[in-house]
Amino acid sequence: MSNNKSFSHQPSYSTRPTLRVDLAQIRANYDALKNKVGAAKIGASVKADAYGLGAVPVAKALYGAGCRIFFVATAGEGKLLRDGVGPNAAIYILNGPAPRDKGVLLGAKLKPVINSMEQARFWGEVAESVNEPPYTAIHIDTGMNRLGLSHEDAVELGRDKRLWKALNPEWVMSHLACASDAAHPMNKTQLQKFRKAAAQLPLTPLSLANTAGIYLGKPYHFQMVRPGIGLYGGVATNKPGQEVSTPVATLLAPILQVRWVKAGETLGYNATFTAPRDMRIAIVGAGYADGIPVNESNRGTAILHDEEVPIVGRVSMDLTMIDATNANLAVEVGGVVIFRGKHLEAEAKSAGTINYELLVRMGQRCRRDYWKPKKTDEGKKPGKPMERFTN
Ligand SMILES: *Cc1c(COP(=O)(O)O)cnc(C)c1O
Repeated sequence: MSNNKSFSHQPSYSTRPTLRVDLAQIRANYDALKNKVGAAKIGASVKADAYGLGAVPVAKALYGAGCRIFFVATAGEGKLLRDGVGPNAAIYILNGPAPRDKGVLLGAKLKPVINSMEQARFWGEVAESVNEPPYTAIHIDTGMNRLGLSHEDAVELGRDKRLWKALNPEWVMSHLACASDAAHPMNKTQLQKFRKAAAQLPLTPLSLANTAGIYLGKPYHFQMVRPGIGLYGGVATNKPGQEVSTPVATLLAPILQVRWVKAGETLGYNATFTAPRDMRIAIVGAGYADGIPVNESNRGTAILHDEEVPIVGRVSMDLTMIDATNANLAVEVGGVVIFRGKHLEAEAKSAGTINYELLVRMGQRCRRDYWKPKKTDEGKKPGKPMERFTN
């Protein structure tokens, strides 16, 4: 009888983590960035599944905020986005037109970014062979030495009136290498090179800045900026105080078991942690398959009841152990441990990586909860510590 009774009082919880994405905050970040760039348009970078947060729901939220230009990396990403956001969005494919993607690009009216003369010639032929080919963007390399036309290529393209007409470019763009550091001399060098290359081409709207580039000021904004990380609340520059966006993604992981270990016992794979004293350990249902880097083993921290608690032992595929010995409030099965959110930058640092990678690595296994505050939810913040998992 008493056994049954205590069993029936077990809290209901899920064994998998939830990635909570605050779509209202993504829209607020969009508005805040828009405010900074005045008349310049915003082309949202939603590549890699919107940095791991879900390209379609994120793009729909941005569309609702007025965004009509989107950047993804591949034709496949573009097709998914087209099906999700409908016919009125301009969708650019950053990696350019590959011959095998021709059908998808034309069928879904995706706009290739032209990154080389080879791509220019290929797409020029395609465009001349169809009715109403999509517009393109011309990408000039100004010092990143990644993708893009060289200055000499730009001169050649500027002279080739037939090719230019076939490509029908809507934008001329380049990409900054060091915008996170406003004092870096490369910013000005790239700005000058961009202007010089653009002057070789017929007059076309220009775009240079990613999120960090927005903070370099008006000369870098031109007619469109292309933020990604700033929409998702990640810090983009070495002066976080100047930035206008707020974190949007929180990983909530359930406590699956709480155990006391005795001084001298070890934890987890390869016994990388030995308890220096008797300790209370919470076993949490999120591991490296959910984007908690193995590099956080014995180094990183998580949030329990608004306090930082150390990750102990090696992070495993589905589970992470935290030291809950000193937690002030109850530590119990079904309780919630928080990763990311406001903690994103600290986690990236302790894992020896960057915020972009932590966001994008959030696994497909997480339940995704797209958080849109209703009037009645006002004041309730995502990631409340002791929320329970009910599904
Ligand atoms: C990814 C990307 C962006 C967005 O960069 P953030 O640093 O996330 O703002 C903009 N432009 C290009 C070409 C990109 O590849």
